[in-house]
Amino acid sequence: MSFFNKLKQGMSDAGAKAKTMMEVNKLRQQVSSKQQDINTLYQKMGQHLYKQYEEQQLAIDEEILASCADILRIDQEIAELEVEIRALNGEKKCICGQVVPIETRFCPACGHQFPELPKPIEPSVDAEVVEQEPIPEEEGEIKEGVEIKEAEEMITEDMKAEEMPEVEIIEPQPIVCPACNQPIKAGAKFCGHCGHAL
Ligand SMILES: [Zn+2]
Ligand SMILES: [Zn+2]
Repeated sequence: MSFFNKLKQGMSDAGAKAKTMMEVNKLRQQVSSKQQDINTLYQKMGQHLYKQYEEQQLAIDEEILASCADILRIDQEIAELEVEIRALNGEKKCICGQVVPIETRFCPACGHQFPELPKPIEPSVDAEVVEQEPIPEEEGEIKEGVEIKEAEEMITEDMKAEEMPEVEIIEPQPIVCPACNQPIKAGAKFCGHCGHAL
């Protein structure tokens, strides 16, 4: 790519980012205005209840119930706006409350499995097919046999690595998952890629 094309590409990326930021800011303003609406309702309910108290008629009446219903509705609207904001930021929220990158398959905090992204290619399928092939015990096939042996040794080493954390020493977590070798986020309890408990 030429210098000018790179420059052009960089500028359009920056333009798209600025547009996303503007949309996010717009949604954030809507959220804070709705939060203000909720605070106003709380205040209204408080005043109403205190007036009843003064008149010695303290009760949950229709006005209180209507305010509660309004708060519930506005809360749901805020939650919807927050989903939009997270999607624009390339994030999503787990059922446990953890916010994770949108492509995460397993929550690093609770291990929850997110619905599959539309990606039908599973690398493990190929590996299984290779394993199921009968191993010919002919002289000409020694090389392949050696390769399989090496792979088995590697699996054993991986399993050893997996057993390590049972020793009660507070050490920094492995940088990659012992099960799938994908990078792991600091403090994660579960692998974000395969859900392996860490
Ligand atoms: Zn979670
Ligand atoms: Zn993993």
